[in-house]
Amino acid sequence: METQNWLLKQAATQPYHVAVDDGNEQLTFAELKKQVELLKGKIDQLNPGSRVGLLAANTLISYQLALAIICSGRTIVWLNWRLADEELRRQINDSELRLCLVEDSLWRPKMEKPFKAYSAFMAIVAEPSVLVPTFNAEQVASIMYTSGTTGNPKGVLQTFGNHFYSAVASTLNLGLSSSDKWLCVAPIFHISGFSIIMRGLIYGMTVRLVKKFRVEEIEKVLANEAVTIMSVVPFMLKKLILQQEHTNIHYNPAFRCMLLGGGTIDRQTLKKCFRLSIPVVQCYGMTETCSQIIALRSADALEKVGSVGQPLFTTQLKLSEEGEILLKTPALTPGYLNLPAKLPAKMIDGWYRTGDIGHLDADGYLYIDGRADEMLISGGENIFPQEIEQVYQHYRGIKEIAVVGKNDAEWGQVPVAFIVSEHRFSPAQLIDYGYQHLAHYKVPRCYIYVDKLPKNASGKIRRFILQEKLNKN
Ligand code: ATP
Ligand code: MG
Repeated sequence: METQNWLLKQAATQPYHVAVDDGNEQLTFAELKKQVELLKGKIDQLNPGSRVGLLAANTLISYQLALAIICSGRTIVWLNWRLADEELRRQINDSELRLCLVEDSLWRPKMEKPFKAYSAFMAIVAEPSVLVPTFNAEQVASIMYTSGTTGNPKGVLQTFGNHFYSAVASTLNLGLSSSDKWLCVAPIFHISGFSIIMRGLIYGMTVRLVKKFRVEEIEKVLANEAVTIMSVVPFMLKKLILQQEHTNIHYNPAFRCMLLGGGTIDRQTLKKCFRLSIPVVQCYGMTETCSQIIALRSADALEKVGSVGQPLFTTQLKLSEEGEILLKTPALTPGYLNLPAKLPAKMIDGWYRTGDIGHLDADGYLYIDGRADEMLISGGENIFPQEIEQVYQHYRGIKEIAVVGKNDAEWGQVPVAFIVSEHRFSPAQLIDYGYQHLAHYKVPRCYIYVDKLPKNASGKIRRFILQEKLNKN
């Protein structure tokens, strides 16, 4: 499948429609096209090969550079600015970058080739350059590393076809209006953020960029501007709720969808959303599927609270005997960079094994239980750390908690909790609390206090590190 370059298409059909807005400046599709031609001229002059890296914040310039890279027929390699130097180096080597553009505010001491600061890049004198006329479905538009929750991050290849099917499937669920404006505060180097940019191009929709998640600022934008959709991860939603309970500020009537994904959420939080009339829509997806592939319809949100919904139009879903979520979708990556055996190893009879465990209710709605790798089996019963963590997160004085399995001669494995807290609770207190909310076999008997939990650059807990530590002793 070949389509006209999406930016050229929008610039031709709705040149005066606002493509992007960062709160200070707006660019129409026609203006955007011009800017991107200028930037492409500079990229071409550097002759960087087929891939260009971006170490970017959610800024107008990063947005334009991303488009300039794909409109020059090259692949964007998205890098997470929270990575340590060593991790960054590994991903740059893995993707064999000859050029990686760095937002000036993210420049680090001792950065040298292939890194180039935006300011140095902008100083390059070059003629504007004509953008590639078409996008091809098989062509790789972006490479994005997974979060590295369960091991080393892997570079996921995302084609134009993947992005296109993902965008179409999303709009068949959420609908599309010519006044849609999608707030993008999710990092653009993650699929939750970049998919908004791609949808903007495919739908001809305004993207409202926000650089940093500051809850007061987001609340103001949602109240004062006609934003219609926002993508959030659980921690953002929780902060927004606390804020709204505090300020009692209502969002603009135009706001119609808070798209929530990326991790587990507790029912208590979801119910609060309904009380506050926050139109939350749960969804499930991953870097490998170019964002959400399963989502709840707004109409079902209340009745099916806790579910991530049903497969979007182009996705097929089934569960393996063990409850693993298996998918078929045209949004699925063609593979991982430099790991040719990795994706085939995750396929079974044409189905992609997600590594996540879930269950379906009688109406076919999916509920996520957790990751297969993190599940522990105690006396023959499956236990998911997230379920236990969610219960204890509401215990006063517990700041953070992570549960992992410890090998046990009698039960096979038993749950152990790592706790971040200024207090030291008596185990009996915590066990008693657990008994009130959980089946007894799920309640940890052993509590270990730590200063902080090991997390990846997206803030997800890397339970396997705790588990290794625990079982070494
Ligand atoms: P890695 O693959 O490197 O271990 P990762 O899987 O955390 O990292 P991502 O692609 O960013 O990297 O995250 C996708 C994963 O996030 C899913 O496989 C799933 O485990 C989890 N997830 C996504 N949406 C939800 C949701 N709504 N509820 C629960 N978990 C979710
Ligand atoms: Mg993963």
